[in-house]
Amino acid sequence: MLLTSPVGKVSKSLSLYAKRLGKLDIFTVEDLLYHLPFRYDDFSLVAPISSVQEGETVTIQGEVTNVASAYTRFAKKIQKISVQDETGKIDAVWFNQPYLLNVLKKGEKVSLSGTAKSFKGKIMLQPKEYEIIYGTETLHTGRLVPIYPETRGVSSKWLRRQIHNLLESSEIDNTLPPETQRKLKFPDRQIALKTVHFPENLDSAESARRALSFEELFFLNLKMISRKNSWEKKKTVKKLDIKLHKKELNRLISSLPFGLTDSQKKAVREIFQDLEKTTPMNRLLQGDVGSGKTIVAAVAVFAIFKNNLQAVFMAPTEILAAQHFKTLKRILSPFDIKVGIATGSKKEKINQGEFDVLVGTHALLEKKIEFSKLGLVIIDEQQRFGVTQRGIIREKGKGVHVLTMTATPIPRTVALTLYGELDLSTLTDMPKGRKVIKTWLVPEVKREPSYDWIRKQIRANLSQAFIICPFIEDSETMQAVKAAASEFERLKNNVFPDLRLALLHGKLKPKEKDAILDDFRKGIYDILVATPVVEVGIDIPNATIIVIEASERFGLSQLHQLRGRVGRGDKQSYCLLFTDSKNPQTISKLKALEKIQLGAELSELDLKLRGPGELYGKLQSGQNILKIASFTDFELLELAKTEAKYIFPNISKYKNLKKKLDADEDIILPD
Ligand code: ADP
Ligand code: MG
Repeated sequence: MLLTSPVGKVSKSLSLYAKRLGKLDIFTVEDLLYHLPFRYDDFSLVAPISSVQEGETVTIQGEVTNVASAYTRFAKKIQKISVQDETGKIDAVWFNQPYLLNVLKKGEKVSLSGTAKSFKGKIMLQPKEYEIIYGTETLHTGRLVPIYPETRGVSSKWLRRQIHNLLESSEIDNTLPPETQRKLKFPDRQIALKTVHFPENLDSAESARRALSFEELFFLNLKMISRKNSWEKKKTVKKLDIKLHKKELNRLISSLPFGLTDSQKKAVREIFQDLEKTTPMNRLLQGDVGSGKTIVAAVAVFAIFKNNLQAVFMAPTEILAAQHFKTLKRILSPFDIKVGIATGSKKEKINQGEFDVLVGTHALLEKKIEFSKLGLVIIDEQQRFGVTQRGIIREKGKGVHVLTMTATPIPRTVALTLYGELDLSTLTDMPKGRKVIKTWLVPEVKREPSYDWIRKQIRANLSQAFIICPFIEDSETMQAVKAAASEFERLKNNVFPDLRLALLHGKLKPKEKDAILDDFRKGIYDILVATPVVEVGIDIPNATIIVIEASERFGLSQLHQLRGRVGRGDKQSYCLLFTDSKNPQTISKLKALEKIQLGAELSELDLKLRGPGELYGKLQSGQNILKIASFTDFELLELAKTEAKYIFPNISKYKNLKKKLDADEDIILPD
């Protein structure tokens, strides 16, 4: 039987369960073998019946000598069997499980694990697991018993039996190169799997799991190296010359109302170096919210234009695309660069040749949008796009340079694994004059005084505020909109009747959104009440206050993104967090925002608090990248990376590994 065989083909009983197993993401034999326990019940204490003590969790083994059912005083049905070994006799009692009496019959040899209780001075057993003993090995009792993620109709007990059978009947090859295995003293894969499912003790379970985790991370790293390798074999259509245009590039940069930060300069240099190569650029520009990624991209667009090529700039929302359109127009049109836009609602200059750079949303992916001489693809907030979407936009040109941008602060070690195929530029410093955003978790009693304070701030500094309504669902539903609308009415009529308020939510038409934001930017409104749609990218430097309602519903990184809507100019900015939560853990999580300003630091904390599954689960549109290993295990991650780099040049020597890598080439990567 092959590990890649569909699980339903293995046996009759498995074929009946195939559909249910799908719910656990188990489709192949391998998936089932890698469905690992998340904990173990410790039933390893096997005791002679006479020595069973009250309160202990214990396993007893012996022969069933009597079987009975009865009713309790409260009319609950109970099942009672007596079990005897050489040392004595004990009663075991269940409630409401009449079918047991058909299984645990008189004369059977049984093994029972459970808790010893005292009842009217007599010790008896309340079993948690039972089994009939065939042969010598027990599976569900008398050992560390694996407990699995379950789904309806698929119990841990059933999984245990199936996995055990599979482990006995399958030949599981090693995929790790023998030298790696030897060097790191890892067991054979078959043994590691057996040990994780049915360990003798927790230590051996742990070290087997470590071996399997390593293998997973090692493979992920290999995949990245292999992708990078095949990217590097691509050729650009045209070799660009940057130096030739140095003068104009400097003219552009000095036309900006500010000087570039050191790390912006460095990123621009790195991009220029890439552009001058014949291998297309494949670079990720990472930088905290507000660090100024857009301008770096604009400079790249300029360089492409000077080389007589077109660029495309894709953003995840209409709001953001419209904003980029305006920014690029402002910066680039004085240099005769034609900026176009293509979103669901707005199209300008999209026909062939009418633009030098085209900004847009997913609408850019439409077939009819063609480029005659595309040289650069920019993808902003790239984590918001699926892999397919990113692929389509790349394919609009042959041998194009690709620059992706993100503010999602993923710890560097993790980024290097997840995005290992990309080169990384990071904006490490903020534009000059930026002040730390003062952040407070505001107790409910201070709500009214806060509103007064906000009014004073707005009046005194002619600044503006965002008020963010509770996060209700992932995609904005009518429910979220209604909640926002009623909060808006309350604020407008009862709290700030003297100020000018507007409401922004996801169900508005793009044109309406655009108009509201435009007016807000122009200062026609003082306060923008918004659903969390404003989370990504919006840039309104005059806004200095952001109020976040029900802040406990957001993750730290999300809160950081939201907070980043202010503090984008040189005025002092403020972030006020409200919450009903009394949970001390939640409070201390939110308090972290008062102290920590760096997105990367917050995301490390998020990683610790929520665990990588949840954090990256969101990023990956439901696909779990890691099944066994954890991104928090930096040391193992590092080890896997080093080893993958070392092995890759000789990959063809390792048949199993090569086969797995080729088969896996187009697995979906995180968004
Ligand atoms: P993000 O990295 O979050 O996408 P943006 O590119 O939107 O950030 O830039 C945030 C704000 O900072 C914008 O208003 C932009 O004009 C401004 N900005 C960018 N670079 C600088 C700089 N070097 N000095 C001052 N302001 C800058
Ligand atoms: Mg941005």
